[in-house]
Amino acid sequence: MIIIDNTEGIRRHSSGKPRVLVPTMGALHPGHDRLIRKGRSLAGKEGQLVVSVFVNPTQFGDGEDFESYPRTPGEDQSLCSTAGTDILFQPTVEQLYSEGEEAGIKADTRLTGTLCGPDRPGHFDGVCTVVEKLFSLIEPDIALFGKKDYQQLAVIRQMTRDLKLPVRVIGAETIREEDGLAMSSRNRYLSAQQRAQAPALFKALKSISENNTPESAARIKTARNMITSEAPLGKISYLQIVDRQTMQELSTVDRPAIAATAVHFGNARLIDNIEIAPANQPNAGG
Ligand code: AMP
Repeated sequence: MIIIDNTEGIRRHSSGKPRVLVPTMGALHPGHDRLIRKGRSLAGKEGQLVVSVFVNPTQFGDGEDFESYPRTPGEDQSLCSTAGTDILFQPTVEQLYSEGEEAGIKADTRLTGTLCGPDRPGHFDGVCTVVEKLFSLIEPDIALFGKKDYQQLAVIRQMTRDLKLPVRVIGAETIREEDGLAMSSRNRYLSAQQRAQAPALFKALKSISENNTPESAARIKTARNMITSEAPLGKISYLQIVDRQTMQELSTVDRPAIAATAVHFGNARLIDNIEIAPANQPNAGG
């Protein structure tokens, strides 16, 4: 595995081989590991697997955890190497952003009016800006993103279409702890007590997917009660059912949708979602 920390280096390494990119913010966990291994198998023997580790300042809002976001470069390097990475790209902020840089990519606002959009103004603009930079430097044929960040995946797909970028964006399933909690770099912020309550998120989302009532409000009410009673240390930021493609809120579950939630446990903001099939159709998993 080659480690590259600057933009000239990653450009120089353009090899003509098909490239698969897995962008991350580091503090890698077994969910990332699975994503990287999926990248390896998509790249095959001939292709090149690039993993980027970059804590992107422009996607963090004021008062968010940019400074305290966990950084574990040594562990990240060994995980990447073991998972079959060819190139680990770990640039500094100065490498990716010019001083005082203002221009950036705007996320499609049709996709950011729900879920994390209103909670984190500017977040998806920062995501689009950095992903576009990574795409233009690394020139991947395929980029892999987790469905754990479903809205991010939708926004990046849209940006890729709008900017006509020659990248196939693929979504990968969410990897969970045994008790259902979605793996996340932010789980390490949780106290033992908060950690014990956190599986309530997925349990509530599963209740939404298994509930056959067409009305979203009824499903959400039951799930909200579940979180409130089983995770009293959590503060629900949102719990919504939205169309899987457009991210528009649905009052009736009459098309492929996701149920998604964000819950704060102290400083830790956890998100999760599940795919749900239209009412009266078998569920599509999640
Ligand atoms: P992050 O480092 O949190 O920005 O995540 C990097 C990539 O890994 C994103 O595409 C995430 O959606 C994905 N990811 C994070 N957690 C998981 C998980 N538990 N299962 C699958 N993919 C994940």
